[in-house]
Amino acid sequence: MKAKRNMQCTGQVYAQVLLIIAVLITGTTVNADSSIQKISRSEEMMDTYFTITVYSDKPETAETAIAEAFNKIKKIESELSVYSEDSGLSMLNRRKTLESPSEDLKININRALYYSNLSNGAFDITVQPILDLYDRSFIEKNSAPSGEEINKELKKVDYKRVIIKDKEIKIGDDQSITLGGIAKGYAVEKAVEILRRHNITMALVDASGNMRALGKKPEGVWNVAMEDPRDMKNYITIIPLDNNAVSTSGDYERYFDEKMEYHHIINPKTGYSATELISATIVTDNAFDADALSTAVFVLGKERGMKLIESLPGVEGLIITREREILRSSGLKQINNNK
Ligand code: ADP
Ligand code: MG
Repeated sequence: MKAKRNMQCTGQVYAQVLLIIAVLITGTTVNADSSIQKISRSEEMMDTYFTITVYSDKPETAETAIAEAFNKIKKIESELSVYSEDSGLSMLNRRKTLESPSEDLKININRALYYSNLSNGAFDITVQPILDLYDRSFIEKNSAPSGEEINKELKKVDYKRVIIKDKEIKIGDDQSITLGGIAKGYAVEKAVEILRRHNITMALVDASGNMRALGKKPEGVWNVAMEDPRDMKNYITIIPLDNNAVSTSGDYERYFDEKMEYHHIINPKTGYSATELISATIVTDNAFDADALSTAVFVLGKERGMKLIESLPGVEGLIITREREILRSSGLKQINNNK
C-alpha cells in the first residue's frame, strides 16, 4: 500500500512515503460463498491516496458505487481544498465573508468549531497563516521563521472569530482557515454513505491513515496494523475494525525540517508545531470525528489528550510520545492484550 506524503510547498522540504496504518492481509480471500468477490480501487485525491475495497456478489454494482464515491470525494476536494483557487474555502479565505456557502463547507466548519470548543482550542482551523509562514520561510530562507515572525502570525489565530450562520460564513479580516485536519475524515464518511446507498454491506474506505469499515469482511473483522512511526517494518498493534473508523495524526507525515520540529500540526497556543507526541490514533464509530480528534489529541499531548479520549463515550485512542512511551485508552487495552 502506498501513501503520498509531501509538503504543500515545493521548496526545501522533506517528503516521506510511509503509512502508519496498513490493512493486514491475513488469511485468504477465498470465501465460503464463492460468489463474493473482492473489488479494490485506488485514486489519488485530497493530497493522499484513497483506496476503496468492497466485498460483493455484484461486482458491477460495486464498481458503480466505488466510482460514485470517488466522484463525491473529488467534489469535496474541489470545495474544501486550500490549494484550489476557486474552492469555496479559498473564496472564504480571500473575501473573508462567503454568502450562501455549500453544505460541505458549513458541515466541516461547524464540526471543526465543535472540536475547538471540546479541545479548549487545541483544534483550531485558523492556523493557516502559521502554515503559510512556515512555507514561505523554508522556501525562501531554507530555515525556520523567527519567534517574532511567528508571534505576528499567531495574533491571527483564533477560532472564536469564525462566525457561521446558515447563509453566511465570516472570518476575521486577517484570518484564513484550513480544513486539512478534518475534511479527509468527512470525505471517507461520505464515501461510506454512497456505498451503503448501493446496498454494499462489506467495505473499507482507506485514506492513508483515515479508515472506515462498513460492516465486516466475509472472514470477519478488518484487521488493521498500526505501523511503528519510526520503524515501518514493525507494527505496534492491530486494531480490529467492525463498522467503525480509525485515524492517525503524526509528525512524520508532512514536515519542513529534518528534526521534524516544524511539521504540519500546529499548537494554536504557541504557533510552533506540536512536539510532545509522534502520533495520536483515534478509534470511534465514524471517520469524521476520528480525523478531527486525532489532530486535537496530537496537539493536546499525552496527559490532556488521553484525558479527552477517556472523557468521550465510544472513543478509544493510542498515543506515542517522542520518548517512545505508548499509551492506550482503557477500551484499547482490552482489545490488545496480546500485543
Ligand atoms: P493528515 O492530514 O496528514 O492526515 P491531520 O488529520 O492531523 O493529518 O491534519 C493535519 C492538517 O490539519 C494540517 O495539514 C493542517 O491543514 C491542519 N492543522 C494543523 N494544525 C491544526 C490544528 N491545531 N487544528 C486544526 N487543524 C490543524
Ligand atoms: Mg485529522
